[in-house]
Amino acid sequence: MKTLLVLGLTTVLVACGGNNGSGGEQAAAPPATPKPTFGTFGIDLSAMDTSVKPGDDFYRYVNGKWVSTFTMPADKARYGVFDALRDKSEADVRTLLDELAARPPAAGSVQKKVSDLYNSWMDEAAIEARGIEPLRADLAAIAAARSKNDIVTLMGNIDYAGPIGMYISPDPADTTRYVVNVTQGGLGMPVRDYYLNEGPKFDAYRSAYQTYVAKILELVGDPNPAESAKAVVALETALATVHWSPERQRDVQATNNPVDRAGLAAAIPAIDWDLFLRGSGLSNVQHFVINETTALHDGAALLDTQSVEAWKKYLAFHLASDYASNLPKAFDDANFDFYRKTLSGVEVQRDRWKRGVTLLDGLIGEGVGEVYVARFFPPEYKAQMDALVANLVKALGQRVSTLSWMDDATRAEAAKKLATFEPRVGYPVKWRDYSAYVVEPGKLFENVRNGRKFDWNREVARLDEPVDREEWGMNPQTVNAYYNPLVNQITFPAAILQPPFFDPYADAAVNYGAIGAVIGHEIGHGYDDQGREYDETGKIRNWWTPETNDKFMGAIGKFAEQYNAFCPLDGACVNGNFTMGENIGDLGGLEMAYTAYKLSLNGREAPVIDGFTGDQRFFMAHAQVWRAIQRDDALRNQMLTDPHSPAAARGSIPERNVDAWYAAFDVKPGDAQYIPPENRVRIW
Ligand SMILES: [Zn+2]
Repeated sequence: MKTLLVLGLTTVLVACGGNNGSGGEQAAAPPATPKPTFGTFGIDLSAMDTSVKPGDDFYRYVNGKWVSTFTMPADKARYGVFDALRDKSEADVRTLLDELAARPPAAGSVQKKVSDLYNSWMDEAAIEARGIEPLRADLAAIAAARSKNDIVTLMGNIDYAGPIGMYISPDPADTTRYVVNVTQGGLGMPVRDYYLNEGPKFDAYRSAYQTYVAKILELVGDPNPAESAKAVVALETALATVHWSPERQRDVQATNNPVDRAGLAAAIPAIDWDLFLRGSGLSNVQHFVINETTALHDGAALLDTQSVEAWKKYLAFHLASDYASNLPKAFDDANFDFYRKTLSGVEVQRDRWKRGVTLLDGLIGEGVGEVYVARFFPPEYKAQMDALVANLVKALGQRVSTLSWMDDATRAEAAKKLATFEPRVGYPVKWRDYSAYVVEPGKLFENVRNGRKFDWNREVARLDEPVDREEWGMNPQTVNAYYNPLVNQITFPAAILQPPFFDPYADAAVNYGAIGAVIGHEIGHGYDDQGREYDETGKIRNWWTPETNDKFMGAIGKFAEQYNAFCPLDGACVNGNFTMGENIGDLGGLEMAYTAYKLSLNGREAPVIDGFTGDQRFFMAHAQVWRAIQRDDALRNQMLTDPHSPAAARGSIPERNVDAWYAAFDVKPGDAQYIPPENRVRIW
C-alpha cells in the first residue's frame, strides 16, 4: 500500500476515517432531458465570489461565496466536492444493503458475507453483551509474557503493534515478483511531530493522548491505568525520536535496501527473526527490502532498553485501541474523542450505518463493488473515459517531445515509460475471491480480525507467484484514483467518474479541467520527484542524464518555494518538499489536460457559454473540484501527515504557472497572484 500515490486525502484503513452525508444527495436515475448536474454547463456559478479579481485570488473567485457561507457538518473534519461524492457513494451502497436485507442472499455467496458482516456491525446490543470477552485470550497471552523474546513472539502476529511493520509489494528490483518490505511502525499518534513538536497545541494533543491511553487500559482492567499510560507514552516518545519523518520516507533510494535473511538480522540485530517471522507466516522467506534503516535498527533496540512490563502495557493498549470501534461503546467513544474530536476537530460521531459502509469497504470492498458497478456505473462511461485518457496520454507525448529542459537521451526514456502506461477505468476485470474469509453472524470482533488475517494470508500465500497485474488497490465505490509506480498503472474507480469530476452532459472544457486534470495528475506521478526513479517496467533505475537531472532539480526547488509560502494556519505552512510529488502531479495534470482540451477542439474555436470562454471554463472547472472547507485541527493534521497540499493550494497554485491562465483571465503584473513568465515553473 505504501507505494500507491492517490489523488485525494490519504485515508486510514480504520472505521473512523471517512465522511458522512448531509442527507440531501441520493442516487438519481439519469435525467430525462440530459443536463449537467452542476449549473447550466457543469460549473456552479452561484459558488463564485465575483467581487474578487481572478488574478488576486483565483480560488476565491471561483469558490468564494460557497467557502464563506457553507456550514461544516458536525460529524466532518472537511467538506468539499470529494466529500459530497463520498456521501453519495455511501448512500448508493446503503441502497444495495437495504436490498440485501429485503431479499436475503444465498448461503455461501459473497453477498451473504457482506450482509452478515454489516449486520454484525449494526447489532450494538450484541457487542455490548459480549463486553471484552473477545479480547480475553489475547490479554492473557500478553499478561503471560516474561521476557523480551515473549514480546517479540507476540509482535510477530500481524494484529499486534510494534516498531517493526511488514507489507508485501512488487519487488523494485524485479517487478514481476513480490517482496516483503520491513517498515517502521508502532506509534499511536499519527507521526513523530505529535510527540516531539513544541507549543501549547502539541502539549494539548499529548495530554489528551495520555488520557486516552489510560481510559483504554482502564477498560481492559489495568489496575493502575494512569501510571501504565505514562509508561506507554514514554515508550512511544522514545520510538518517535528515532522514527523517520513522512518527508524522509518519500526518499525512494534511501528506503530501498534489499537484504537476504542474514542481512536482515545484521541490519536489525535486536530482533530474533525466527520468532518474529514465524508469527507472520513468513518463516521461509529469504528476501526482504528494509525501508527506514536507522528507525528500524534503533526502534527494535528499545526492546532491550524499555522494560518488558512497559511493552506489555503497550501491546494491551494498542490491541484494544486498534479494535476500539468493534468493542463496546465505551471503547468506541474514547477512540472517537481522541482521534476524531481532538486530532481533527469533529464534533459528533458519524451515523452508525455510514461507518458500517466504511467497514465493508476495508474488509470486503470488492464484494460490495461488484454489485455497486452493476447498479450504478453506466457502461458507456467507460468508453468515454477511455477516450479522455487516450487524449491525455497523447498530450503528454506531445509535451515530452518538445520540453526544452530535457535532452534527447532522457526524452527517449520518458517516452518509453509513457508507452507502457496502463490505464484502468471503473472496476477490475476479475473480482477478489473471498471464499476463505470467515464471517459469522453476531461476531463483529472476530469478523474484523478474520478479515485482516484473510488479507494478509492471501498475500503471503502468493509470495512465490508472479505479480498479479489485474489486482486493484482501490474499490470501485471509492471516490479517488491512484498511480502505482511499481506496475506503471493508473486506476480510476467508478465512483470518481461522476459530476463535477466527470459529467457526460457537461461542456468539454469542464470535463478536461476536472477529470482531465485528475487523469493528468495520475500520469504525472510517473514523472514526479519519486515516480521518475522508476523505469518503464516499474524497476528502480536511474534513466536521467546528469544535465537533465540538474535542470529538473532546479525547477522543483523553485516550485517547493511556492508551496512553502502557503500558510493557512498561524505559524503552520505547507511543506513544499513533503508535498512535492502531489504538487508536480497537479501542475503536470493541469498542463496535460489543457493540451488535451486543445487537441479535442481540432483547431476549432470553443463557443462562449454564459459569458465564459472555453479556456475560462477549463480553469474554473479545475478550481471547482478543489472547493472545500476544513477544521483547523484537521488541516494541521493534514499538513503534518499527508503528502497532498490543502485544497485551496491545489486549486490555485498550479494555475499560476500556466501561461494560458494569464491570457484567459487577463492577469497582469500588480495582481496578487501574478508570477512573471521567467519565474513560472514548467516541468511536464
Ligand atoms: Zn496524487
